[in-house]
Amino acid sequence: MPTPPKLTPEQRNDALAKSTAARQVRAAIKARVKTGELALSAIFELATNDEAIAKMRVVELLESFAGVGKVRAIATLDRLSISQTRRVQGLGTAQRANLLREFPDRKATAQRGKLIVLSGPGGVGKSTVAKALRQTQSFWVSVSATTRTARHNEKDGVDYYFYSDEEFDSAVKSALFLEWAEFAGSRYGTPRKPVEDALRGGKNVLLEIEIAGARQVKERAPEAVLVFLQPPSWEELVSRLEGRGTDSKERRAARLALAQDELAQSSFFDLNVINERVEEVVERLIGLTNHQ
Ligand code: 5GP
Repeated sequence: MPTPPKLTPEQRNDALAKSTAARQVRAAIKARVKTGELALSAIFELATNDEAIAKMRVVELLESFAGVGKVRAIATLDRLSISQTRRVQGLGTAQRANLLREFPDRKATAQRGKLIVLSGPGGVGKSTVAKALRQTQSFWVSVSATTRTARHNEKDGVDYYFYSDEEFDSAVKSALFLEWAEFAGSRYGTPRKPVEDALRGGKNVLLEIEIAGARQVKERAPEAVLVFLQPPSWEELVSRLEGRGTDSKERRAARLALAQDELAQSSFFDLNVINERVEEVVERLIGLTNHQ
């Protein structure tokens, strides 16, 4: 550690007064961020003229956004490869842009719908929740494309768009998917444009997808809220998967093994919800659209 400079009593008083003033500026900024009055873009602007703001730690700033605690602030910095000790003035251009995408100006986003991603292990009951949500009209529920064959009760264009391998390849090549992933031997993807149109039109959008896809959505649309649906217990999940008479024995075994891997990834999600009762899950998800 460098030795501190020798200060006269006057200089020491000046330094103390300066640091008190800086603390007050930072406290005022944080309070205004909390109420939603100041957006991140405005703070970056203010930092160009105000040393106290320029020297604020980014983590401290993020924490003061409503609904963002220390844990989420640190997780966000980690995800964006920004050091936890970084100060506002030390942010690079790309880091600023990433943070602005994560904490968009509310005025600009006021009209946009919310993007909620419902994920969790196969068999946990995501599609039942999605169906119930569709009926409440609170969400526009995305219809995915898949290469798996339709089950007897499924309709093309309603439950899924059933694609051939070639059709799916071509959609991937043309970047038509917001995300896509392989699951139990088939491919599944979310068509990008209908989702973007719905959000832009102010509709809340629900994606009911598996975990690798959910992770991709978070990368591409950081404002998305990721919800992990948990089974009431492992035994319950097994019995739900076993009880599904629609799949072959091999496919059920593959789904169980996958479910185990999937459960281990729940901590990546913004929110974990136990699927005890569908109506409760539906209420929680609708509640998410009213926040902020
Ligand atoms: P199923 O074949 O039982 O309908 O769905 C299998 C898995 O694929 C489920 O976990 C479901 O959530 C997931 N899934 C459905 N559509 C999509 C999608 O568009 N993208 C991704 N990544 N997963 C999906």
